[in-house]
Amino acid sequence: MERATHPEAASEAPAAAATNGKPEADTFDVRRPVDGSVIEAVAIDSPESVAETFARARAAQPAWEAIGFDGRRRWMEALRDWILDNQDRLDTLMQEETGKVRADAALEAFYCLDAINYWVEQGPKLLADEIVTPHVLLLRAKRSKIVYRPFGVAGFISPWNFPVILSLGDALPALVAGNAVVIKPSEVTPLTLIEMVRGWREDVGAPDVLHVVNGMAETAGALIDAADYVQFTGSERTGKIVMKRAAETLTPVSLELGGKDPLIVTRDADIDRAVNATAWGGLVNSGQICISIERVYVEEPVYDQFVDKLRSKIETLRQGADGNTYTAEIGAMTAPAQVEIVSEQVEDARDAGARILTGGRRGEGPGDWYEPTLIADADHSMKVMREETFGPVIPVMKVKDTEEAIELANDTSYGLGSSVFAGDAAEGERIARRIEAGHCNVNDVLVNYNVLGLPMGGWKNSGIGVRHGAQGIRRFCRTEALTIPRLPQAKSEPIWFPYNARKRGIVRRLYRFLNARGLRNRLGL
Ligand code: ADP
Repeated sequence: MERATHPEAASEAPAAAATNGKPEADTFDVRRPVDGSVIEAVAIDSPESVAETFARARAAQPAWEAIGFDGRRRWMEALRDWILDNQDRLDTLMQEETGKVRADAALEAFYCLDAINYWVEQGPKLLADEIVTPHVLLLRAKRSKIVYRPFGVAGFISPWNFPVILSLGDALPALVAGNAVVIKPSEVTPLTLIEMVRGWREDVGAPDVLHVVNGMAETAGALIDAADYVQFTGSERTGKIVMKRAAETLTPVSLELGGKDPLIVTRDADIDRAVNATAWGGLVNSGQICISIERVYVEEPVYDQFVDKLRSKIETLRQGADGNTYTAEIGAMTAPAQVEIVSEQVEDARDAGARILTGGRRGEGPGDWYEPTLIADADHSMKVMREETFGPVIPVMKVKDTEEAIELANDTSYGLGSSVFAGDAAEGERIARRIEAGHCNVNDVLVNYNVLGLPMGGWKNSGIGVRHGAQGIRRFCRTEALTIPRLPQAKSEPIWFPYNARKRGIVRRLYRFLNARGLRNRLGL
């Protein structure tokens, strides 16, 4: 595979460490995955520094809540406009720290623009007071309502594959709901987020409710201790550590963890569409997406045709650092450790008898590169079909029918997403309803993520809680249940003190009347 190079892929390193205005402390290096060179050193926030940041966020939150949806909308829309004005610069920085191709880097700003508009429009509706009609007639003398009130300060711990979508993107509904936000981005890719938080503060001049803290496990732990709500996106292993730590303070969490998303192709499917979708769904962002297509099951009559076409498709893909030219489809891998995992899984499949039809090698020279890879004749004895790969690798397995495909698709400890390609939509939906996963796209891939009204989250070990949809913003609020009198009230109620046999007899008869069925039975006759 030819690797394209472009002069804009590696830009000038900034002179100073990004200390976020804080005193110089220990630092970590952020690197360019395309060649491994250091971009800059970022200061680590100590637990004390995290606590100070939370104190600032906490101090600013009440005024942010008090300005209401309209007030917050103004600032969120100013952020949207700032992103639009700075989009090229942000895309370039994103590319530099992740090794993404330009088209993939650009997805991050696209998501934020759309999500800001979605949440400022839907937030007030989804968080409006809800009137509840009591199920017992007697209680209808009260007005009962649910009120959504922000937690206070929400903390976010985010990964390196979508450094902005999975940090600021997830924080947007928290902000719209009236929370302050503190984000700890991945230490692999913090720079674009740092710049966006700076833009919010300095260029937009928005309230002091959006903060970033930097570091690794210690910094993240301090964030969990201080936050009122924690959203974590990352590995299953670290997710369990986060949940345990949050248990110490009984802090609610939402965890979006790994996935091993299956794609099923039936004998009646449009094979060309299925091939193009599989190539994109498995290889976009170098396969480093929690909802990437990670394994494919194809019905026997169309298996050879599918595999041949997919091989041809993948062989047309260009890999490289494309600057802002949009001349490559596949970029570098973002984290060096991930190249090891991918490489090990491919070798394990090769040793177990799978056919590597294209790719299957690390890139030569410096940087974190792995070729887009197609593995045919995979089966469930292979790691590549059972463990999260998170790389540019598509393993395909032949199945005798859709029953076997569904069984294998569900034979996993994960349950994040899935796709089904079938001859008609109704057949696709029938299969989709039997898949054990948080979403299933019929004759499509990944598209559910763009439908912001749909809950997005995993079953089984893929996580707890959802982003997007009504739950995606309500999770950042506590509910308060209110009962408010509608009518003049007596000095006391029959069920209050004092108790005596006559009053309790009436109450008993009343409960019988309300809950028994049939008039004679209600009257106790
Ligand atoms: P990966 O190893 O693939 O980067 P992780 O799940 O370890 O995935 O990382 C996701 C996020 O979790 C990152 O921001 C990382 O710094 C953070 N993290 C790492 N270790 C811990 C920990 N012990 N507690 C909380 N967060 C952590």
